[in-house]
Amino acid sequence: MQPVTIPKLLPVLQNLYPDIKFKSGKLFVWSPQYQTVTYYKKAALPDGVWSLIHEVAHADLGHTTYYNDFQLLQMEVAAWERAKIIANSINIKIDEDHLQDCLDSYRDWLHLRATCPTCQTVSLQRQDGLYGCFNCKTTWKVSDSPLCRIHRRIIN
Ligand SMILES: [Zn+2]
Ligand SMILES: [Zn+2]
Repeated sequence: MQPVTIPKLLPVLQNLYPDIKFKSGKLFVWSPQYQTVTYYKKAALPDGVWSLIHEVAHADLGHTTYYNDFQLLQMEVAAWERAKIIANSINIKIDEDHLQDCLDSYRDWLHLRATCPTCQTVSLQRQDGLYGCFNCKTTWKVSDSPLCRIHRRIIN
């Protein structure tokens, strides 16, 4: 298989998804508000190509906001599934290990977010988005950061 680069992939994706805007930036992210996929053109390959397709998958699925961490994880799983389909259709193969690593990093992150800072009990997110420990009654707020480790690795 030929190595694919982001500059080569962009017109292909733009052709498939004429309604999506593509913008160069410091990370990979889909903005439902602006219908824009931002990409980091200096990202390592092939990870950068996979990340770009992944963001297009979010766009394709019409992903907007999520209400809790569990939904976020479901969206990530769905986006990777769709990314595989998009990639196949343009003769790109997304490495399954990479995909699982990415989902694992999400699960680890969610686990960390759900762990009580006082007594380390794993708790459930409440309706209001806060976490509350049923063991010691500590309540904590989690920061919004829907980027998985692969995105962060690319920025660093
Ligand atoms: Zn994602
Ligand atoms: Zn606790």
